Amino acid sequence: MAEPVKLFQYNTLGALMAGLYGGSMTIGELLQYGDLGIGTLDSIDGELIVLDGKAYQAKGSGELPEVVEVSDEVTVPYAAVVPHQAEVIFRQRFEMNDQELEQRIESYYDGENLFRSIKIHGDFAHMHVRMIPRSTDERRFAEVAVSQPEYHADNVSGTIVGFWTPEIFNGVSVAGYHLHFISDDHTFGGHVMDYIIKEGVVELGAVDQLDQRFPVQDRKYLFAKFNLDEMKEDIDAVE
Ligand SMILES: [Zn+2]
Repeated sequence: MAEPVKLFQYNTLGALMAGLYGGSMTIGELLQYGDLGIGTLDSIDGELIVLDGKAYQAKGSGELPEVVEVSDEVTVPYAAVVPHQAEVIFRQRFEMNDQELEQRIESYYDGENLFRSIKIHGDFAHMHVRMIPRSTDERRFAEVAVSQPEYHADNVSGTIVGFWTPEIFNGVSVAGYHLHFISDDHTFGGHVMDYIIKEGVVELGAVDQLDQRFPVQDRKYLFAKFNLDEMKEDIDAVE
């Protein structure tokens, strides 16, 4: 049997929602566990995009988003990566919106109870993204998320990366799709809101295991009192 594919997740989305934004794992370490993924940076400073083993940060600043490569010493409070192995690859040959493409993607799933990694490279007639703005620990994610910069691009080529999470793991991650985008020229990117794909190649990867890491030396996490109802509301509201 082939080596099991491990989805590596550092911290949980729930902890992030509760306001634990301090980075405690380096990008250098994170990249040892996978070559494709998503997350955010220390102080929730924008969106993390891991593509082909490299880490990028998309930040909202003014009129245009800014995309930069992230160096190994930068830390993350939350991230998920996988050694992506496409199990299903199909070509999307005609224009579809995100909901239509999601339906097509789901037609290849064997049931609804496994995570999947997703990579879509293509030409997009439209791409709509947002970026979480840098914040301090004192504010709940849902409060910060009210004023997130959003950006639109027309006729942009690039890659969507991320995960599909089963409903039973909501809280550990966000149930359903969590996708980030980076353009081929590395000038545009962020957390995907919606899009129209003109044509492209869709790769769906299997996930056999979840390697859930905890910030075991982070006192804020260790002694935090989480309000689960609030956390679920916040995930529904902002993700
Ligand atoms: Zn995101």
